[in-house]
Amino acid sequence: EIPNVSVPEFVLAAGKERPDAPALIDGLKGDVITHGQLAAYVDRVAANLHARGLGKGDVVAVFCPNTPWFPVVFHGIAAAGCVMSPINSLYTPDEIAFQLKDSGAKILITIGLFLDRATAAAEKSPVDEIIVLDGAEGHANLFDLLGADAPSVTVDIDPANDLVTLPYSSGTTGLPKGVMLTHRNLVANVAQCLPLLKTGADEKIIAVLPFFHIYGLTVLMNQGLALGGAVVTLPRFDLEDFLRTIQDQKITRAFVAPPILLALAKHPIVDNYDLSSLTSILSGAAPLDEQLALSAQSRLRKGADSGVVVGQGYGMTELSPVSHTSPDLDAQPPGVSIEIPKGSVGFAIPNTECRLIDPSTGEDAAPGERGELWVRGPQVMKGYLNNEEATRATLDSDGWLHTGDVAVVDENGCYTVVDRVKELIKYKGYQVAPAELEAVLINHPEIADAAVIGVPDKESGEELPKAFVVRAPGSEITEDAIMAYMAEKVAPHKKIRFVEFIEQVPKSAAGKILRKDLKARA
Ligand code: ATP
Ligand code: MG
Repeated sequence: EIPNVSVPEFVLAAGKERPDAPALIDGLKGDVITHGQLAAYVDRVAANLHARGLGKGDVVAVFCPNTPWFPVVFHGIAAAGCVMSPINSLYTPDEIAFQLKDSGAKILITIGLFLDRATAAAEKSPVDEIIVLDGAEGHANLFDLLGADAPSVTVDIDPANDLVTLPYSSGTTGLPKGVMLTHRNLVANVAQCLPLLKTGADEKIIAVLPFFHIYGLTVLMNQGLALGGAVVTLPRFDLEDFLRTIQDQKITRAFVAPPILLALAKHPIVDNYDLSSLTSILSGAAPLDEQLALSAQSRLRKGADSGVVVGQGYGMTELSPVSHTSPDLDAQPPGVSIEIPKGSVGFAIPNTECRLIDPSTGEDAAPGERGELWVRGPQVMKGYLNNEEATRATLDSDGWLHTGDVAVVDENGCYTVVDRVKELIKYKGYQVAPAELEAVLINHPEIADAAVIGVPDKESGEELPKAFVVRAPGSEITEDAIMAYMAEKVAPHKKIRFVEFIEQVPKSAAGKILRKDLKARA
């Protein structure tokens, strides 16, 4: 049963019972917004947006880093019946302008530090107004959004049809697409996930993944706020800030992406911090290697009085975003109680149907075989904005979302995501998953990080795996040594044929390897 309410009604309800408890904490500055203040501020933002002439369905773009004000603005926009379109903090003016134009945004909310890019973007794709939260001459600011004069508004929201957010997919495989998500999509997904974790009002969640990406956005709805707990924001991932904040704020849960686990597993400074408050670290957004997850987990448990569990979930913008996760032991599907393999993304969440489709036949894959993952459930998007062709190619008439990811399911119902269909390297009839080779590479002690792509071989027309490798500090490992190591670890058709050393693997702010950039470089 999905509550038939708007996102702010659903997410802010528990906090109303404990108005003096902290809801949002700035991890760097320490500023606190209580649940009572949050509800009052959300009311003000909605009222002041209405006073500016905005109403149901109007798009408000938000181009801001993670601070406690981001959730205030998001829920305020939602309470006004408007649609929040979050913009990637790293975008250039051209990329911002594309999103402003495509989404039809009327107002752009940003901060002083981003104002130059915001202004340049708005010159190409005009908006009615740019609001600068921390103030800039000639612009309205946060105090104007929180002003007391405008009368409160009650908007009649139809959760099943009205959009609440219009995030853009990461653009990993092409141009970013505007994903239409309704109030019901998000409320359903929060409701699907809440019972899977033994959480309560004592939770303190660290919000280090960007709120502009759908995975980060869930963090300001799920365990943190919807159960009356607290969310501690960090504007970017900096390992020291991250560790210090966990220690000082006694963070209980972290939602992260694989690069953060890579740092937790490998970086020497991790041992200098007391991280014993952590009970769970959940990774998503990109493939996470089993060994890496295990070594991060055992390192965090070492010495500390900690039972932290590292687990994985899977999702995509089009799924609001979660379809799979690794629940706590006593929240597993009826009759199942297992230790979930670390390489697995766990079970399909309640109310979510899955199929694995063999691409060569278009039929369901045989048990235990790989196939393209299809998902159906209340969290599936309404469609892509202004892109019927892409919608038709992704969302079929029976409501199945074709994820474009290859997965396999074991006898317990645990899914493992292999890689994207589009990224598989095709070699002599085999399909080699870059993620699998990357996992083997990063387990080498002299390799700090790695990424793999297929490069075309002019003679045979086949694709050959090429590795980009970041050496561990002090290491002088050679290309030949890496190729020899891989030849020992993987079947001959998966062998790495070329190695190039780089300083850093290019990754998105949400933690995905930017293989596009590497292909351009190759
Ligand atoms: P675009 O669709 O614009 O190319 P994108 O697919 O990267 O970009 P997102 O919606 O942010 O945009 O990401 C969803 C994708 O992230 C999934 O389709 C999948 O490939 C990957 N992903 C998410 N979680 C996991 C996971 N646990 N393991 C492996 N891959 C994951
Ligand atoms: Mg995608």
